[in-house]
Amino acid sequence: MERVTAAPAQPPLRLDDLDAEQAAAVRAPRGPVCVLAGAGTGKTRTITHRIAHLVASGHVRADQVLSVTFTARAAGELRNRLRALGLGGEAGQVQARTFHAAALRQLKYFWPQVVGDVPWRLIDGKFPLAAQAAGRAGLPTDTDSLRDLISEIEWAKGSLIAPEDYAGEVGRRHRDVPYDAKKVSAVYTYYEALKTTPDGLLLDFDDLLLHTAAALEDYSSVAEEFRGRYRCFVVDEYQDVTPLQQRVLDAWLGDRDDLTVVGDANQTIYSFTGASPTFLLDFSRRFPDATVVRLERDYRSTPQVVSLANRVIGAARGRIAGTRLQLIGQRADGPEPTFAEFDDEPAEAAAVAKAVAKLLGNGVPAAEIAILYRINAQSEVYEQALTEAGIPYQVRGGEGFFNRPEVRQAVSALRTAANRDDLPDARGEKLVVLVRAALAQVGLTKEEPVGVQARERWSSLMALVQLTEELAEQDPDLELNGLLRELAARAEARHPPTVQGVTLASLHAAKGLEWDAVFLVGLADGTLPIQHVLGPDATVSDEAALEEERRLLYVGVTRAREHLQLSWALARSAGGRKVRRRSRFLIGLVPDDSPASRIAAHTTERRAGPKRQHPTCRICGRPLLTTQATMLGRCARCPADVDPELLVALQEWRREKADELSLPHFVVFSDTTLTAIAEQRPADDRALVAIPGIGAKKLQTYGADVLAIVRSRLRDSS
Ligand code: ATP
Ligand code: MG
Repeated sequence: MERVTAAPAQPPLRLDDLDAEQAAAVRAPRGPVCVLAGAGTGKTRTITHRIAHLVASGHVRADQVLSVTFTARAAGELRNRLRALGLGGEAGQVQARTFHAAALRQLKYFWPQVVGDVPWRLIDGKFPLAAQAAGRAGLPTDTDSLRDLISEIEWAKGSLIAPEDYAGEVGRRHRDVPYDAKKVSAVYTYYEALKTTPDGLLLDFDDLLLHTAAALEDYSSVAEEFRGRYRCFVVDEYQDVTPLQQRVLDAWLGDRDDLTVVGDANQTIYSFTGASPTFLLDFSRRFPDATVVRLERDYRSTPQVVSLANRVIGAARGRIAGTRLQLIGQRADGPEPTFAEFDDEPAEAAAVAKAVAKLLGNGVPAAEIAILYRINAQSEVYEQALTEAGIPYQVRGGEGFFNRPEVRQAVSALRTAANRDDLPDARGEKLVVLVRAALAQVGLTKEEPVGVQARERWSSLMALVQLTEELAEQDPDLELNGLLRELAARAEARHPPTVQGVTLASLHAAKGLEWDAVFLVGLADGTLPIQHVLGPDATVSDEAALEEERRLLYVGVTRAREHLQLSWALARSAGGRKVRRRSRFLIGLVPDDSPASRIAAHTTERRAGPKRQHPTCRICGRPLLTTQATMLGRCARCPADVDPELLVALQEWRREKADELSLPHFVVFSDTTLTAIAEQRPADDRALVAIPGIGAKKLQTYGADVLAIVRSRLRDSS
């Protein structure tokens, strides 16, 4: 084994915070190492310690190590953990990057040797070129269609499929494509051709990888220089590697074998990008001398969570499933995961917000709580419920509902409709029809469309229609302008929080992360597994895609350290028809004594009581249905009993406070919350937190000030 003569940068690393198998992977001599293990078993921890060990024992210099992963967040996580081991991200240190970032650096350096003085530029995004290419091929050029075409191009490039082979490969793999494969192939061909311009070459992200591989494959001087510089390679989350990334990795290695990979085939959830766990599973076939380590001890989650994770993945089928290991929980016992069924999504979201508030009250930090769902459009109802409960949150891996481009476009289409001279006086059912017609202008179709992006957009538009249905049912007098005011109030109430809040994220965005408490929501059949992997009559149309959906649930369950709740709703909107069923993946997992198992009793109990999900008006006692009404605690039509002087005093205080803290005014309190305080004149902490929009954090920060202002006003006026 080669030893580097430079003095070790670090004292030998202590390995006593690793278990025997982790330590075996860490201590394995330089050469191929593969860690195949389930979630939470310390794979990421093992590779960072292995790097530190190789450096500390003088086997490799820190700056000769290149560690790669797939997302910027994951690369950041690697760098943090390396820094904690004394291997910071500065020059001369271990490199921890995404594949793309590593390739970009290398290409910049090697380009003059390879291509000479032909200028090149990295394009910001594929849209403009894809639009030109789609136009030439006679396909639509709206945003959704382009997104779907771009996904196809990215899948093909990631899978190393050339434009001329695209149609054949799609047929061979029975791939579900948004348009005729020959047309997509034409778009792909035009797209590639458009990147050669008189001013030089345009490169997209995939080209960075392709050109890097080609430079190393075709130019021995480049390969020699690179291989002299980097000697040791490490890949985290290796189950997500695409054939294109693998080609780059092979070019980096040449005929060497100093490669450590770690991954969990049962967490493969990015197949749609061309990623495949085959490279991980076949590693020891390719490198027969490889040290292969399997880890089974789960250090992340309680035995209760681990047991559920084992049962979820235990039902998996196919080759990947054959590689799973039974995880063994190492932590102390915790609460059993809970299952909960609700009549409708707003009720589910309200209950989750309440459970989150309880955890916060018990001292669990907001940053340690996550609500995870299958598609981004599901965030809307949770954003709403958390806002009403005054709980700060952040939406990860997607924008907040009202910031999404399609929702902005939809609201603007509704505004245009409202400004028309011939606006009909539409209320109730007619308002819903009017809204549907306006949203048809921005792409709302009757049937759910085929492409992934188009579906996501469609779901957001449908969420707006359902919101309209709900509001129109609750307030039969609501007309379009009233609806627009309500949407504006909802958007205003949801400005991003300044403090770190509860995480809302899709299951895809949650991979590799961990939280103390996790809520897996919307676990209805047709959402997870998602509708398009199911055929008519809910039969399975695509077995492999169904298994990927099951792995998503496994990824979700294994994010939780301690608290885990799984829930679903029988109807989408409040009072809607209960046509849904719990996810087929939950069959056999919900304990018999769980309240969620007593569906009939549970439903009757809910029906018998008042509409619990909606608070009532403090003046007339009717249910409150709009955000503004809920925050004010009264119907819009009931008389306002606001104390104008108190309101002015509160506004004055808010202005000073916001300036003092350098915050926008609405972050301190929204106008509606201030009005609610000026109407309700709370006398103590309890009365103050009863006002929606005021949670524990706001009470702590501003409660004393606000109560003092109210008290002083009451004294003045008595
Ligand atoms: P995933 O598959 O989700 O990426 P992973 O296998 O990479 O998970 P890590 O994130 O490395 O797992 O570890 C999970 C948690 O367990 C982390 O909080 C980590 O610090 C802790 N952990 C790992 N190994 C040990 C150990 N030997 N002793 C104590 N804690 C450990
Ligand atoms: Mg990891």
